[in-house]
Amino acid sequence: MADKFQAVVIGGGPGGYVCAIRLAQLGMKTACIESRGSLGGTCLNVGCIPSKSLLNLSEEFHKVKNLSNKGIEVGEVKLNLNKMMKSKEKAVTVLTKGVEFLLKKNDVTYFKGIGSFKSRNEISIKDVNKNEISIFAEKIIIATGSIPTSLPGIDFDEKIIVSSTGVLKLDKVPKKMVVVGGGYIGLEMGSVWSRLGAEVHVVEFLDHITPGMDKEISNEFMKILKKQGIKFHMQHKVDQITKKNSSAVISTTDKDGNKKDFDCEVVLVSVGRKPNTEGLNLEKIGLNLDDKNRISTDKNFKTNLNNIYAIGDVISGPMLAHKAEDEGIAVAENIAGQSGHVNYDTIPGVIYTTPEVASIGKTEEQLNDLNIKYKIGKFSFMANSRAKAIDDTEGFVKILADEKTDKVLGAHLIGPHAGELIAEIGIAMEFGASSEDIARTCHAHPTFSEAVKEAALSVDKRAIHS
Ligand code: FAD
Ligand code: NAD
Repeated sequence: MADKFQAVVIGGGPGGYVCAIRLAQLGMKTACIESRGSLGGTCLNVGCIPSKSLLNLSEEFHKVKNLSNKGIEVGEVKLNLNKMMKSKEKAVTVLTKGVEFLLKKNDVTYFKGIGSFKSRNEISIKDVNKNEISIFAEKIIIATGSIPTSLPGIDFDEKIIVSSTGVLKLDKVPKKMVVVGGGYIGLEMGSVWSRLGAEVHVVEFLDHITPGMDKEISNEFMKILKKQGIKFHMQHKVDQITKKNSSAVISTTDKDGNKKDFDCEVVLVSVGRKPNTEGLNLEKIGLNLDDKNRISTDKNFKTNLNNIYAIGDVISGPMLAHKAEDEGIAVAENIAGQSGHVNYDTIPGVIYTTPEVASIGKTEEQLNDLNIKYKIGKFSFMANSRAKAIDDTEGFVKILADEKTDKVLGAHLIGPHAGELIAEIGIAMEFGASSEDIARTCHAHPTFSEAVKEAALSVDKRAIHS
């Protein structure tokens, strides 16, 4: 007899495994199906965690090489890429095993295999040896995430033409790397390989990097990355990538129609990701997709089929792990009859380069489009005592507040620990705080967070230290 569950989650990424744990916490007999052989999804296996490990290790390497400027003499600093990769792999293994432990602890049944729909309530699971079992579920949550997209006619070989997966495990530092796409992945991974010694060229279709980000921050970010040695080729469209022996030629056309070729040892194609619905057999059960092939859901994450829900990268919205997690919790609570909810106005985005870039709420461009009048408060890390003390003064904090009510509408940071500082603004926004509320909150001295307080003071033109 096939096993029966109250809820089954397909996909064990940050959306899926968090959802499964919450369902079990709420008393439901729950299973989670994952096909890749380890839990944690893109994020833990080939995304957030390995990339942040390499960002940290490459930053340490870069810093140690430059310590003598600060009076700390070190001997010759050498890179052992193999060991660095092992350190990254250790972080991945510890965390993915940790998720397996959490599922067990919460009594979630973990099935290793590919899940596909046999009917609206029956799922087939095929393991690596092609053995097949079926399980039944009252409610099914699809959390199958996303996969890298390429350009038309260009396939990843993960050695010369690499996706975000291949770029995390190169076995030597390329002399020259071309990054197609100046978004999150291109700039994070371009930074890693640039710090390790590669000459990095970013080829971007638009006239600015990180589309959707506040323009002022985006411009400052590009300026800083240029100073670090990354070369940018803006408004260049990639027409073709051809492999030549052990290198690649990237053929481009710029906005004026000029053709230019770039050659390199490795080309990273990071032009976005696409929802992963392949093999689920969705047509068979009549489940609707939207015009971008994402699963269509209502605001309660319900699809057009009454017992089937979807969350995370496979539905609309930013492709971020914390967004997937929060949706996982919200859908579980909705299924249990509670009022699960995600506030899409307060989802932070962080780019883990040096300096970090962090953003929440509306950008200036969005406020202008919406015709919302706003005030700006800005404070530079150049005037922050902690940043000065450790000579890490690049960047600034920018807070946008409603012109009349002073309610915080958005914040955009570039600078040291921006990814941590943004949490304070997230809480403020969740509680509907004004910039004055932040300004009147006592911040410890000397900390980077004082730059947030000063930016809030500056909304009302009363910053003290600038
Ligand atoms: P996924 O994490 O993609 O998980 C889906 C899982 O479902 C996968 O493990 C897949 O194997 C499994 N699956 C698919 N089909 C089936 C099936 N039929 N049966 C069983 N299992 C199936 N986000 C951040 O917030 N911060 C970051 O720093 C960050 N860094 C990133 C760096 C890189 C290089 C990349 C590529 C992404 C990064 N992201 C980051 C994005 C983040 O990884 C995703 O937004 C997040 O993983 C989405 O979670 P998810 O659960 O929706 O899907
Ligand atoms: P992205 O959407 O962030 O950036 C893609 C870039 O490629 C854009 O700047 C776009 O204009 C450019 N582009 C598109 N087509 C092009 C072409 N033909 N030629 C040149 N440029 C082109 O996508 P990504 O960097 O692949 O990352 C995918 C997603 O993964 C991100 O949107 C983000 O949601 C997630 N991610 C998040 C983090 C993080 O949170 N720190 C890190 C990595 C990835």
